[in-house]
Amino acid sequence: MMSTLFRNGILAVSDRAEVERAERGSRLSQRLKERFVAGDSLDEALAAARSLANQGLTATLDRLGENVLTRDEASRAVDAYADTLRGLARGGLEPNISVKLTMLGLDIDDGVAFDNMVSLLETADTVEGFVRIDMEGSAYTERTLGVAEALHERFPERVGTVIQAYLHRSDRDVERLIERGMRVRLVKGAYAEPADIALQRPREIDAAFVRLMERLLEDGRYPAIATHDPALIRATQGIAVRMGIDRRRWEFQMLYGVRRDAQRALVRDGFGMRVYVPFGADWYPYFSRRIAERPANLLFVLRQLAS
Ligand SMILES: Cc1cc2nc3c(=O)[nH]c(=O)nc-3n(C[C@H](O)[C@H](O)[C@H](O)COP(=O)(O)OP(=O)(O)OC[C@H]3O[C@@H](n4cnc5c(N)ncnc54)[C@H](O)[C@@H]3O)c2cc1C
Repeated sequence: MMSTLFRNGILAVSDRAEVERAERGSRLSQRLKERFVAGDSLDEALAAARSLANQGLTATLDRLGENVLTRDEASRAVDAYADTLRGLARGGLEPNISVKLTMLGLDIDDGVAFDNMVSLLETADTVEGFVRIDMEGSAYTERTLGVAEALHERFPERVGTVIQAYLHRSDRDVERLIERGMRVRLVKGAYAEPADIALQRPREIDAAFVRLMERLLEDGRYPAIATHDPALIRATQGIAVRMGIDRRRWEFQMLYGVRRDAQRALVRDGFGMRVYVPFGADWYPYFSRRIAERPANLLFVLRQLAS
């Protein structure tokens, strides 16, 4: 209950521009940013991806930003995402990125986001890359799935999306995407959602995560199991062994800067581990969600500042 209140409070604050301006400049914010964001520039993100690759981890790069309201901003985002794909390919790294449809014009119109994604996926095709469409708040779920499915018809090798275990609708959506053979990343869900839309109790969200993970391991196409939760990681490993599923048919994913030791330990144990690497100047909403889901992240940085 406390943590839900705290989370909703932080998420509400994260929308307020004046708080954002005050926070951005603070020393604490800078330290948080250093911990969870790979840098402002593409070069810094590529260096982070290379350093991960040297340790046996793969990456997906996320150029931060969300909710653009003009076509010009959306087409600048397409260019920036396309540069990211090309930069990865040029650097001999796997061209794998994660994008948000609201950054590509979903708030203007589904067609704008679709057309921008087509242009981005044409670039992905030329570098044999992959574009994951992140899942945003529940107001966007159906539209995001609709756009992702239409894109998957045209670019079946190049595009995938995300399912949030906390949504009541997710069992049906997982079946829908398994049916299509679309790659799915499974997450708990990061947005504050009401009880009629999403599960609220951690234990229920975990149970849904396990149920959906099992379905994806069984019949999904190269699913990504994205969590830092040790119990869910163990459950995934146990189910994969019990079902005799080869480790090369799925992967774990975690966020940059979170449980770095666990990331490396999983690689040492022979599991695929992809790190979600955010970069760019527009980092405030991203790290607000990281603090909301785990206030201990804030304490961690405060302790470092104090020492
Ligand atoms: C690769 C990736 C992509 C994502 N994409 C999306 C998306 O598109 N849409 C979306 O809504 N959400 C996304 N998320 C966020 C996700 O929905 C969760 O909010 C986030 O992952 C936190 O949930 P968790 O499963 O890690 O477990 P939590 O419930 O946050 O944590 C469970 C346990 O994990 C351990 N743990 C967690 N964090 C830490 C830490 N910093 N240090 C040490 N231990 C820790 C602790 O033991 C904790 O009790 C993504 C997450 C990942 C990893």
